[in-house]
Amino acid sequence: VFKNVEMAPPIQVFQLTKMYNECSNENKVNLGVGAYRTDEGKPWVLPVVREAESQMAADLTLNHEYLPVAGMPDFRTSATKILLGTNHAAISENRTESFQALGGTGALRLAAAFLGNVLGFKVVYVSNPTWGNHKGIFKSAGFSIKEYRYWDNANRSLDFSGMMEDLSNAPENAVVILHGVAHNPTGVDPTPDQWKTICQTCIDKKLFVLIDCAYQGFASGDLDQDAFASRYFADQRMDMFVAQSFSKNFGLYNERTGNLVVVTKDASKLPEIRSQMEIQIRVIWSNPPNHGARIVATVLNNKAYYEQWKGDILTMANRIKKMRQELYDALRDMSTPGNWSHITKQIGMFSYTGLSEEQVELMKTKYNIYLLSSGRISMCGITSKNVAYVAKAIDAAVRA
Ligand code: PMP
Repeated sequence: VFKNVEMAPPIQVFQLTKMYNECSNENKVNLGVGAYRTDEGKPWVLPVVREAESQMAADLTLNHEYLPVAGMPDFRTSATKILLGTNHAAISENRTESFQALGGTGALRLAAAFLGNVLGFKVVYVSNPTWGNHKGIFKSAGFSIKEYRYWDNANRSLDFSGMMEDLSNAPENAVVILHGVAHNPTGVDPTPDQWKTICQTCIDKKLFVLIDCAYQGFASGDLDQDAFASRYFADQRMDMFVAQSFSKNFGLYNERTGNLVVVTKDASKLPEIRSQMEIQIRVIWSNPPNHGARIVATVLNNKAYYEQWKGDILTMANRIKKMRQELYDALRDMSTPGNWSHITKQIGMFSYTGLSEEQVELMKTKYNIYLLSSGRISMCGITSKNVAYVAKAIDAAVRA
């Protein structure tokens, strides 16, 4: 039965981690995986998460019963509030609903199921480039995938006019995935004014907006600032979805904690939306896991924990910014050919270095520094100890 099953191509980012783990060079560096690391290169459990977990472990009223199909109510409402802001009109006018999902990936997959199965949408536009999984998620839900221009390689910045041209030419009822903050992989976001133009074009052209918000807090260290795009779109009273992930800003990668937020023009169709969404959930994961959602709900509903969490986010965002600066300074000190100012200008977890595939290959084989062939590096993999080594390798690759 299985004799014709062919080997699928490896998932590049996990392949890199495997190569890194198997490498014996003590200077090896993993710049592939998008997960936060301390300055010692270690995974970090946020202190506020440890505290919430201790409190949960001591609470003998908690149990392991199934959660509702739509997820934990406290988690869903508090997650929606940090996204839109507690006093947002969409919340006070009851024009939102949300559904707990298996991480940001699950929220996107649920969105795709609803948009395809219930609304009959067939085409999705993603940025070129985008997080690799966007295409796979929507393809597996039966969508055809189109791209809008995003990255201007010559200037290492946003190709805004190309993006607007492509969105303007998209057919009605196409779904458009926008990265709400800290675009992955480029680390380049539209300015607030550009966001306004993008939003107006989506409204004028009747495009369905799905914002992927996987890095709230990671770009600026400030939850409100990083929610600008999501809130601006929601302010326009349009029907839209936002896929939220708590993998990064809570460090809950393996707990699969996400939320699909629905914002509508008017509340009257929410009961129907809820019922159809629950049917989609029922056949994919039936009901979601508890642990991560309970942590997030515990933190967001406790003033002291919430403040502590904001401090933890700042710790992560500031360390990343510091590494951007140190990497830039090291390249400048070596007069590495090229302009590297994009490293400090780009935001969030990643930097799109502009290194070519051959240069990436040289860094991998000669220096045992593992990064995606697109030249994307996770800034989290850089530490005070290895930044000089990484800079030296980039310098050598560029001069080779
Ligand atoms: N969207 C983007 C742009 C991402 O970078 C990621 C994580 N790499 C996700 C969604 C999914 O996150 P999660 O791990 O919560 O599924």
